Amino acid sequence: MPVRIWRTPLNIEKAKLPKAEIHIIKNQCKGCGFCIQFCPKDVLEESEEINERGVHPPKVVDESKCVLCSFCTSICPDFAIFVVEKLCEEEC
Ligand code: SF4
Ligand code: SF4
Repeated sequence: MPVRIWRTPLNIEKAKLPKAEIHIIKNQCKGCGFCIQFCPKDVLEESEEINERGVHPPKVVDESKCVLCSFCTSICPDFAIFVVEKLCEEEC
């Protein structure tokens, strides 16, 4: 059986994880749900609202859970969602 060694970085308190800023172009969404279904962190869910295309675009449930993998952007067939790193001057 392999020995598992867990290491904690010495500067873990100083390390800052990037924060995500998720942008949804609601009226460009066709409501396929791919971004919701395949987000590894369950950041998105279907919204109640109806867009110009007559479908429910996704909404962000918890932006802090986003790991900036950009899979939603890659999988969206209509280029209706993208994620950027939130740039903060101070702690955000
Ligand atoms: S970037 Fe990744 S974790 Fe964030 S919402 Fe998109 S698929 Fe989910
Ligand atoms: S993958 Fe794109 S088109 Fe499909 S629900 Fe998400 S934002 Fe809308």
